[in-house]
Amino acid sequence: MKTITLIPGDGIGPEIIEAVKFVFNEMGAPVKWEEYPAGETALKETSELIPSALLASIQRNKVALKGPITTPVGKGFRSINVTLRQMFDLYANVRPCKSTPGLNSKFDNVDLVIFRENTEGLYAGLNYYDERLEIADSVSRITKKGCMRIVRAAFEYAKQRGRKLVTVVHKANILKQSGALMLQAAETISKEYPGIEWNDKIIDNMAMQLVLRPEQFDVIVTSNLFGDILSDLCAGLVGGLGVVAGANIGDDIAIFEAVHGTAPDIAGKGIANPTAILRSSVMMLEHIGEESLAKTLSAAIDRTLAKKELCTADLGGKASTMEFARNVIKQMELIE
Ligand code: NAD
Repeated sequence: MKTITLIPGDGIGPEIIEAVKFVFNEMGAPVKWEEYPAGETALKETSELIPSALLASIQRNKVALKGPITTPVGKGFRSINVTLRQMFDLYANVRPCKSTPGLNSKFDNVDLVIFRENTEGLYAGLNYYDERLEIADSVSRITKKGCMRIVRAAFEYAKQRGRKLVTVVHKANILKQSGALMLQAAETISKEYPGIEWNDKIIDNMAMQLVLRPEQFDVIVTSNLFGDILSDLCAGLVGGLGVVAGANIGDDIAIFEAVHGTAPDIAGKGIANPTAILRSSVMMLEHIGEESLAKTLSAAIDRTLAKKELCTADLGGKASTMEFARNVIKQMELIE
């Protein structure tokens, strides 16, 4: 049994996490959950945004699964997601975006993975306001170490998964120093991976290429802000935020998460789509060495998504969150 920290989160979080617990239980996954609130829910229950017991649990278990958490825009507390990433140095945000056969999406030939640097750039927390001059500064700080480790993570992933091409995305024509750091890192690290090709693209061209011919990309590595935007763009190519997985990975600790938000408009109705968190759970199973279970769960999710009538309303079906979870288990039984 592997103990994993579970953060249901806010809004639809507890509903989609319930679906994961059901599926894991039904498939007999060797996982024991240690459940903690965070964010708004935690503030109400414990008067702490990120309870210290939760932090100790993540530190101890090294692996967590997290539902979405509310972040107020422009005011209030700092994003819990960003805080957790920085606190545990989860420098690689990994987002696989692959077309699902039968699912109505913009493209049916996409199979790419984005590696977004997760701790630096404009998210380093260097925000200042000079009241006298009425000037706001958000400093984008990028380090050589930060570039080297995210580029290495992308190449290593490509090697382990038999992928052939790494594309470095930057804006080195304008952001000369910071862009150059990422390119130099790729120049150096690519020499250790002779079987893997690499190229680079300027962010604006990349955005256009992705909407025109996404099939040309394999593994993409980029800085924090560009990665944030591109990973949502790529999710849009394959069916949207409701169906893509996400993980925040460091050298020691990994947090797997639903990349969509708390969906306040449908929270409490039991109709949220649990696909994204289930697919993140597939990544989590791979991470803890349960490859065979991961494969089976992934295939069962794909089979469910291929039949509209088995899906939730956002995908054109009528299933509730828990009905979708039961449909996944039924499809799993049909595979075995
Ligand atoms: P959102 O992703 O919550 O919702 C956007 C739209 O997508 C809504 O119409 C919603 O109903 C729908 N949607 C999202 N997930 C769905 C699902 N699983 N099934 C069916 N429909 C789904 O984005 P938002 O409205 O911009 O943000 C709401 C809140 O979520 C904000 O407080 C924001 O800070 C937070 N948020 C958290 C995370 C996170 O914790 N990782 C990510 C993004 C937004």
